[in-house]
Formats: sequence, C-alpha cells, structure tokens
Amino acid sequence: MVNVTLKERLLNALEGKEVDKIPVCSVTQTGIVELMDKVGVFWPEAHSDPELMAKLAIANYELSGLEAVRIPYCLTVLGEAMGCEIKMGTKNRQPSVIGHPYPIDLEGASIPMDLLQKSRIPAVLEAIKIIRDKIGPDVPIIGGMEGPVTLASDLVSVKSFMKWSLKKTDLFEQVLDLATDAAIIYANAMVEAGADIISVADPVASPDLMGPDFFKKFFQARLQQFSSSVDSVTVLHICGNVNPILSYMADCGFEGLSVEEKIGSPKKAKEVIGNRARLVGNISSPFTLLPGPVEKIKAEAKQALSEGVDVLAPGCGIAPMTPLENIKAMVAARDEFYA
Ligand SMILES: [Zn+2]
Repeated sequence: MVNVTLKERLLNALEGKEVDKIPVCSVTQTGIVELMDKVGVFWPEAHSDPELMAKLAIANYELSGLEAVRIPYCLTVLGEAMGCEIKMGTKNRQPSVIGHPYPIDLEGASIPMDLLQKSRIPAVLEAIKIIRDKIGPDVPIIGGMEGPVTLASDLVSVKSFMKWSLKKTDLFEQVLDLATDAAIIYANAMVEAGADIISVADPVASPDLMGPDFFKKFFQARLQQFSSSVDSVTVLHICGNVNPILSYMADCGFEGLSVEEKIGSPKKAKEVIGNRARLVGNISSPFTLLPGPVEKIKAEAKQALSEGVDVLAPGCGIAPMTPLENIKAMVAARDEFYA
C-alpha cells in the first residue's frame, strides 16, 4: 500500500478492494464560483471551451484537494448532441434543457451518425485529453454525464415521458433504448479519451419522480446494459431518497452507487447493498457543504466514514456558491479521521 496513487486508490475503493484510506472526491459536478474567480475561468464559457473546462476542473483538484478531476459541469452535453435545445445558464447557474426534439412521437428519432462530432461532445473529449496531459497518469479523471432515463426524458419532455410510461409503453421503451444506446457510445468515447471512471447522474430515475416498480420493470435492464457495455469503472448517481430502489440499483452492475443524505444512515444502505456495489457519498450539498460551518461538515464527513462509506463525496452536485473552504473541510475531515 506504500506509494499508492490517487487513481489506484479510487479505483480500488470502487472495486471493493482494500485501501489504506477512503478516497475523497466528487462524482457529481464540481464547479464553484469562488474557484472561477481564482483561476479566471467562468461558466457558461467553461461548458463549451475545452481549455477552460479543463482549467476549472483541475483547480478543484489542486486548490480544494479533491482526489479526482471531474468534468463537465452539467447534464446536457449528450442531450444537446441528440437534438435538445439548451439554455447555457450563467456564472452560477448550470445549463438546462429547454426544448425537446420528440415531444409528440418518435418519428425520425435516431442516433446521429456523427454523434461524437456534435455540439459540445468534442469539447468534453478534448478537455479530458488536456486534463490527462496536465495532471499526468496518476490522478483519476471522472467523466460525468446524464443517465439513459434522464436523457430519454429530455428527448421527449418530462410530460410526454410520464404520459408514455402509463399509456404508450411501446414509445416509452423505444426512447429508453435509444437513450441507452447513445449513452453507451458517448461514455465509451470519454473512456477512450482518457476518463478512468464514468459517473452517470440519472435524476429522473429517482423514486421521487417515478415509482420503484418503473425502476425495476423499465430502467434496471437498461442500466445493466449500460454498465456492462462501458469499458471502465462506472458510478450511478440518483438524487433524492433512493431507499425504495437501492437494492435494484445495486443489481445494475455499477461499481459505485452515489447517494444523497436523504437515504439516512450509510450503514443501513451498506447492509442493503452488501457486496454488490460500493457506497459513494453522502455529505449534503445544499444543507451542509453550501452553508457550512466547517465543524458541521467535518462532523458529518467523519460520521459517514465511521459508518462505512467507500468513497467520501458530496451527496449531489456541489452548489456553485459553495465556499472553497467548505470543500477543503471535507477533505481535511478525511485526513483527520486517519490521523
Ligand atoms: Zn443528485
């Protein structure tokens, strides 16, 4: 265990191998305004320019101590390449999907032949290469993306997605398959560019939006197909209280499951998951990391470590107004835990 690199430690932790200490990183978005001001790189430009995207991501590794570099900062890159209309947001607001290519039916819906050349996908792939060049081989790179369920909903609108789930299940399954295939192509392109871990955020698969039966019946097989088709370690992030689907998530084939504080005790979650996957989380992004104070962040981080999280991380995307000091406190808590 001497001289273990950050990359080896994170991959080992996610694969359930023994580690000298639990890694601390974010598998969800990492862009914060304080870092933008420090390095002179800002949203929305950093969502499209590979140099800027890389620079801001590396800052979170170098300046806050997170033990991985993660890009991009939104869940709209693949959706845009598949035809969604995107509002690029502001310095402290993430891009969002505002227009859907197939709201009525799936007439003409397909994966573009030149998917990997479309919209911001080339920028993300280039940013991964730039990051690898700058940080060397020993720091893990996490490629983030929207999951198949969220992409499917973006393609047809939440309204149609919900309606089809009940009344037009053939269309519902068809768009889920289309989204899964596109997600696999994009994920493998990120792996080929140099990403070590693919982190899928699939908020629309949350039981807060769709019942556990839908997850079991429609989403699980597609997520299994995704994880088995992507040539890297994978992490599945689903927002909200995922306890009703946690056991189903554990059967999806992802090495890591990233969860929020809303699941309650990591210890209980670990009991449900068993050795099927590793638990990533679950320091509250909006209620702990954003407001602090440092003492509370450290106490919750140490509690999560003592309850057995396999990777210490924010429970969801880091809020852009989160102070740098608060992210550092999460890292410091991990160090103090082992001191
Ligand atoms: Zn989330």
